[in-house]
Amino acid sequence: MKIEYEFKKQRELMVKALIREGVLKSKEVKRAFLTVPREEFVWPDMKSSAYYDTPLPLGATGQTISAPHMVAIMLEEMWLEEGMLVLEIGAGSGYSAALTAEIVNPTGFKDSGGQVVTIERVRSLIEFAKSNLEKTGYADRVKVVEGDGTLGYPEECEEEIYDRIVVTAAAPKTPIFLKKQLKRGGILLIPVGDLYIQRLMKLTKSEDGSFKSKHVCDCMFVPLIGCDGYQNS
Ligand code: SAH
Repeated sequence: MKIEYEFKKQRELMVKALIREGVLKSKEVKRAFLTVPREEFVWPDMKSSAYYDTPLPLGATGQTISAPHMVAIMLEEMWLEEGMLVLEIGAGSGYSAALTAEIVNPTGFKDSGGQVVTIERVRSLIEFAKSNLEKTGYADRVKVVEGDGTLGYPEECEEEIYDRIVVTAAAPKTPIFLKKQLKRGGILLIPVGDLYIQRLMKLTKSEDGSFKSKHVCDCMFVPLIGCDGYQNS
């Protein structure tokens, strides 16, 4: 009980700091950050660092849970609304998927609210993300699937399915099936660049199917590995 209280305090302090830095702005994103317990998504031996504003390693997988300020920037840029269907590439711990679900489906009703589909290629992280989402009450709102997210979900489907698509790994370019699977009027966020530094790009699909793009900020993500990403070497 005491430990839970301390995490809640730390969560509130983190939110205050992110507001002060100007990255947390909207009431929906603030509420999501105050609600989702990051300590349940970090690797078990990292709990005491859960509220540091830094990426943390996910065990020995070589992958990381992104820094809270980066997740906040992405959530703010997505202009999420209740009821939306969101595709995330790179489930990792499941933390950013849970925050997204908290915004698109705050009540948690399975059939009436928004949904998040998150794809992960590392088998042990699929299990990790699923169990984290289960214990924090997001399993009904977030579907974790195994696969190569560079091909979208369903793989290589050419239909316009999603209101929002977010890639949480560094891509050499925007995968073609992600562009196809975004609805008109939708937003696609993706870090594009080399393996050291990327530009977080915000692509908006117009009604005529063309894209407008905007550079949000520079960032550093682990690589997006797959058919339409970096090769696994
Ligand atoms: N959103 C995560 C952080 C993700 S780190 C969180 O909140 O914890 C990036 C993740 O993308 C890693 O787990 C990595 O394994 C995964 N990844 C890389 N390439 C991928 C691909 N082609 N398809 C699905 N997942 C991929």
